[in-house]
Amino acid sequence: AKVQSGEKNKKEETDLKLSNRKDENFGDWYSEVVVSAELIEHYDISGLYILRPSAVEIWETLQAFFDPEIKKMNVKNCYFPMFVLESHMKKKKDHYDSFSQEVALVTKSGESTMDIPLAIRPSSETIMYPYYSKWIRGHRDLPLKLNQWCNVVRWVIGDPTPFIRSREFLWQEGHSAFATEAEAHAEALEILELYRRIYEEYLAVPVIKGTKSEVDTFGGAVSTNTVEAFIPNTGRGIQGATTHCLGQKFAEKFEVNFEDEKRDKTMVWQNSWGYSTRTIGAMVMVHGDDKGLVLPPKVASIQVIVIPVPYKDADTQGTNDACELTVKILCEAKIRAELDSRDNHSPERKYSEWEMKGVPLRIEIGPNDLANKQVSVVRRDNGAKMDIGNADLVEEIKKLLINIQQNMFNVAKQKRDECIQVIHTWDEFVEALNQRKMILAPWCDEKVVELDVTEKTTNEIGAAKVLCSPFDQPELVEGTKCFASGKPAKKWTYWGRSY
Ligand code: AMP
Repeated sequence: AKVQSGEKNKKEETDLKLSNRKDENFGDWYSEVVVSAELIEHYDISGLYILRPSAVEIWETLQAFFDPEIKKMNVKNCYFPMFVLESHMKKKKDHYDSFSQEVALVTKSGESTMDIPLAIRPSSETIMYPYYSKWIRGHRDLPLKLNQWCNVVRWVIGDPTPFIRSREFLWQEGHSAFATEAEAHAEALEILELYRRIYEEYLAVPVIKGTKSEVDTFGGAVSTNTVEAFIPNTGRGIQGATTHCLGQKFAEKFEVNFEDEKRDKTMVWQNSWGYSTRTIGAMVMVHGDDKGLVLPPKVASIQVIVIPVPYKDADTQGTNDACELTVKILCEAKIRAELDSRDNHSPERKYSEWEMKGVPLRIEIGPNDLANKQVSVVRRDNGAKMDIGNADLVEEIKKLLINIQQNMFNVAKQKRDECIQVIHTWDEFVEALNQRKMILAPWCDEKVVELDVTEKTTNEIGAAKVLCSPFDQPELVEGTKCFASGKPAKKWTYWGRSY
């Protein structure tokens, strides 16, 4: 046993490198990095993952931003049960059809077969709206805006990917009902802006706001708005988060009516909206590198790791004390700093461990730094090294964290923008798709044309589809034709493969 543990230690000492390269083997790199950085652990059921504390801490940071923001909008949190009668789901046929292949059913309890199988929520429209029908009577009951933080289950077929496409995931789902279409429309855009801020301000991931095509509109909705991210390495879009304008389509089925001021019975206008733990996966894909995770400072639960660097028999106690003091000063200034005082690991091994976990800044303190009244600092995002005098510590670290956050966004945006290609013809489209571009093309906005493009481009690595039609539309010169059908183009639309 002794020999074995000795071998294990030796392995640990050298084994902190990823064996896959982001540029060479992206899929394997991603699978390796989410485990090595201790975000997830695999579970013994495919498509389900254990979220370890580092992942939950990121999730909590995003919650800590979003939850107060929606409360400012007067959204209240609630909790509905996770089970729903299948017959209830079927009430809204187009909604049910869009989920039916992925719905998990409970058919037994112990030895006995359930009288009626219970579906586990893939989304809660059909669970909540019967009660909206009960609670909403007059115009004074409106708007009704509820949100819940919960898990949902969608038994996705095909390859699940941690965070990005899992069979159970955490999300928030907001469900609101308004007296007017205009109010509902305004809310859908207000929430979408919060989703943009989650991606761009917190995760430093650039997104494009737009609408989904008919093919990808949420089952039973009138339209779906998205914040769309893009992964340059694979040339795939990611639907980052969505707000669905449900119009009066669910209200009709679930009889969500109210008496307006003139005492006429009117149906409400509804939205539903959600973002999930997919956010974390998009962040890993965009920023991670061959050393592991790279965390934007705003979501890093440890922003600065402080590591003593002892040198022969120089003043070890002195360096340790200086490290402790540094952590204390930083924490007092509300910078999330921690000391790595373990004496069973070399400094080098600690460096690679914290690099793997993506900590934005590393401070090293050795005898020289002690003598010069300084610390030496290394940035995770670009590897830059610098010395900072003790007197300037807090101010300089604060500046660096802001700079790293901005730099990560700028670098990601530049890489994403380099992938955007404007095309006009089918041949240009195929070429751009082969080059993994995010393709901006004039389109006739017809479902059959999108389905045809998807069919024609299907191969072993996936197929092209509409990512979104951006809100921010370039000018569409009169006479512009659809790249795929040759019919008059109605709008500019992003196309590509997608997760
Ligand atoms: P939906 O209401 O179906 O549009 O879902 C809301 C958001 O959840 C989507 O915009 C995705 O970003 C995310 N999402 C959807 N399916 C999954 C999944 N299988 N795993 C993780 N996140 C998902």
